[in-house]
Amino acid sequence: MTRELLVELGVDRVPVPVEFIARAKGLPIVESNMEAEVSGALIKSGNLRGIAINASNAPVRKRFTIAHELGHHLMNHIDKDHIDWEFTVIRRDGLSSEAQDDQEMAANSFAANLLMPKHQLRQDMERYRRFNGEIRMDEADVALLAKKYRVSTVAMNYRLQNLGFLSWA
Ligand SMILES: [Zn+2]
Repeated sequence: MTRELLVELGVDRVPVPVEFIARAKGLPIVESNMEAEVSGALIKSGNLRGIAINASNAPVRKRFTIAHELGHHLMNHIDKDHIDWEFTVIRRDGLSSEAQDDQEMAANSFAANLLMPKHQLRQDMERYRRFNGEIRMDEADVALLAKKYRVSTVAMNYRLQNLGFLSWA
């Protein structure tokens, strides 16, 4: 789904221009002052559509939030305003319903796929491949890659492990 989206919009570079993609999909982005625990919100009110993000969050977090909310929108998860409390790539508390958890996980997965495209990462991995085919990266390498994709190191680590490029520590 994210691959088709990138192709459709002619995006073939990293960092992925997530604000441009959201706008192209009809979601303007507004930054506003929010409680510290709130990452952002998907706004669906009448004909009004948009993504609100917490102005005080770090840039990499804002990018992930935009991608996450875009995921909710494109997967038709939300039929009204939806506020995202602090989410991470790791499961949150067990307070929300199972269905909601599934949607949150799907939105996080969408965001990771969009911001860290598999085909791009596969190219980048070649630099770290040894003669025996094994990929060897240290923390500094992951941090550098995270910087290139403008995502957090935690998100990059998780993504590389999910794709099988790095083994679980
Ligand atoms: Zn969400």
